[in-house]
Amino acid sequence: MRKQRKKRAKKGEPQRITKAVTHIRLTETNPGKLAALDQLAHVFLQLVQQYVILFCTDEMPDAFYAPCFVTALSERWHRVAIQQAAGIAKSWRTNREAAYQSYLDELAEHREQEAGGTLEAGVKEPAWHEWNVPTVRQPCIQGNCNVIKLEPSTDSCFDYWLKVSTLDKGHPLLVPVKLADYHIEALTDPKTKQRRPINSSVTLNKRDEAWWLTLSYDELVQVQTPPDAPIIGIDVGIANFITTSDDKQYGTFNGKLRERQKRDREKRRRKAKLRKCLEKKGVPQEHLPSTASRTGQRLTRHVRQEINRAVNLCFAEHDGCQFAYEQLSVASMRLKARSMNAYMRASNLGHIPDQIAWNATKRGVAATHVRSAYSSQECSRCHYVDRKNRPNQQTFCCVICQFTTHADRNASVNIAARLHDEELWACESRSEVKVLLLRRHEQWKQNVRLTVVEPAVQLGLWDLPPASTDVA
Ligand SMILES: [Zn+2]
Repeated sequence: MRKQRKKRAKKGEPQRITKAVTHIRLTETNPGKLAALDQLAHVFLQLVQQYVILFCTDEMPDAFYAPCFVTALSERWHRVAIQQAAGIAKSWRTNREAAYQSYLDELAEHREQEAGGTLEAGVKEPAWHEWNVPTVRQPCIQGNCNVIKLEPSTDSCFDYWLKVSTLDKGHPLLVPVKLADYHIEALTDPKTKQRRPINSSVTLNKRDEAWWLTLSYDELVQVQTPPDAPIIGIDVGIANFITTSDDKQYGTFNGKLRERQKRDREKRRRKAKLRKCLEKKGVPQEHLPSTASRTGQRLTRHVRQEINRAVNLCFAEHDGCQFAYEQLSVASMRLKARSMNAYMRASNLGHIPDQIAWNATKRGVAATHVRSAYSSQECSRCHYVDRKNRPNQQTFCCVICQFTTHADRNASVNIAARLHDEELWACESRSEVKVLLLRRHEQWKQNVRLTVVEPAVQLGLWDLPPASTDVA
């Protein structure tokens, strides 16, 4: 768990970022060519799936793993499949491990409350549901120059030829690539007006019955933010995608998006019911309606666009600032997203911090993720930590010092304060964080007492023996 914590980028060092140019549609000058690509993809994905299962169960993901399955593909294609599977399995294992750790944290907290008698009535013990091994559904090929080459075209109206090696050895497929104006603009360096060097690995995706090409290039970006730039804390949520510590909100899942999500969920529920019913009647698998939903995928894309817009606006309106944001754990997502289904919360809430990191990198702005433990329960004034500080989802009201504000606002102020908090960063677990925060609360109480008591001490009314007043 600890090893997965990302290293904070060193100040002042330029960062190499890879930018993608997406949605380049492969032209159908010759349908036979794309049919050959379909055939290749079919065999390739089967092999990827075999290694995904292997790397998620019996073996650790390893891009250099010795080939162990029989396939019609060449050795080079076989290696590409192993690399792609290793990538999928690695991120699946990382996410699963993080989820399992937060489950253990939640369980420990639950038992602690149980033992201390502070457990609220009706709260169930958290349960672990084992994750399924991922299924590769959408045709996707992440090819390197050993199997797919992008060659500039000099003798045609096309920009490039994509040379794809196929199942038919010695007969590569030549697919023409025509760039749109906005692709050309993205691939041209505005300073030198030259075409940027394109990375040798390319991605091919099949969506809506068409093949799409993604190209990428590298760029060096320098962080421009001075270390003393004003700190803006960002709280991530559903009611507001982003709440900043200077009390601004960007984007929301409520309203139209929520309505669409509800409709989609209903639709999928009905489909799943129908599927079960047909299954019982002995209808063969291939005739059953699919549970994957097209509207669901569209909705996900739409939510992501809304998130991107919100994050962009937040950065644009905070020019010259640096940002602190939450390292969102699955546990805190669950708290924030109680009413949503697992898919939406995993795919979309997690997209917000990703998008913050990406915006910061491409703009050369400093954005640092901080520990999120108890950021929503801690009072930003007196540091007292308690679930009861949140009488409802929107309100923060400290049970000790009575400090009252919007819950997301309180969290974003805590997050801003955690940016340079080395002591908090050094905590190994949630329970250590809690001990630290409660110690700070004790300090706050003493300070408050001192400021109240001090004038009396200065007057010498309390600490002098009663007899001394006689002298005056
Ligand atoms: Zn308080």
